[in-house]
Amino acid sequence: MSVYLVGAGPGAPDLVTVRAREVLARADVVVHDRLVDPRVLALAPWAYFIDVGKSPGRGPSQETINQLLCDLAPRHTCVVRLKGGDPFVFGRGGEEVRALREAGYDVTVVAGISSALAAPLEAGISITERTLSQAVTIVTGRSAREGVDFRRLAQPGVTLVILMGVQRRGEIASELIEGGLAAHTAVAVIERASHEDQRVQRVTLASLGAAAVESPAVIVVGEVCDEAALARVALSEWS
Ligand code: SAH
Repeated sequence: MSVYLVGAGPGAPDLVTVRAREVLARADVVVHDRLVDPRVLALAPWAYFIDVGKSPGRGPSQETINQLLCDLAPRHTCVVRLKGGDPFVFGRGGEEVRALREAGYDVTVVAGISSALAAPLEAGISITERTLSQAVTIVTGRSAREGVDFRRLAQPGVTLVILMGVQRRGEIASELIEGGLAAHTAVAVIERASHEDQRVQRVTLASLGAAAVESPAVIVVGEVCDEAALARVALSEWS
């Protein structure tokens, strides 16, 4: 009996790691969430699938998922818990691993390409650029409950990569402006990164709230999204 917590990557099946493919190829049960593309599920030809997809207010609780994994573990040769992106980036993967280990089951974690990195890349945005951005903050935009104060995150030279920020995008933009970022700070919104219907919008903090955006999307804030700033960097190299 083996249990794996596997990152499915951002969507495109060819962004699934070789290690994840090998595990999926011999899975007999795959417990997956809503973000996993059907073409990725097709990499597990022998498995039966359990969709525990959660969207706000719907789907099984985290405790139910943890219990399900503990129930499946002793009954199957290869149990795969498949999560979008990387299992340890805002995926509650840590909680699932702890629940399984507490119940006495060993878990192997397989890294995935996180949407936090893949989405900007697919949009052609380099999240670090010499002279423009020396640090990257990956942050959840979901709820005030989780206590993120975007005013404190408003810092020059730092690229912000916001996951789960679609619903609160207007408030987030206002807090960043209150914290000191210019209203015209460049923003890129990448919906369904790496999927065939990926969409990229270029806006500013001032217009982010009014932009029509559908989840899942990654919001990138900072000068690395600003073509003019990038052009200035290129020019300064010559002088
Ligand atoms: N573990 C995942 C993140 C889970 S949180 C990872 O590493 O990617 C879910 C959030 O991830 C979504 O709200 C969205 O912000 C982001 N996301 C996941 N897949 C995405 C995709 N293909 N395109 C854009 N955003 C995505």
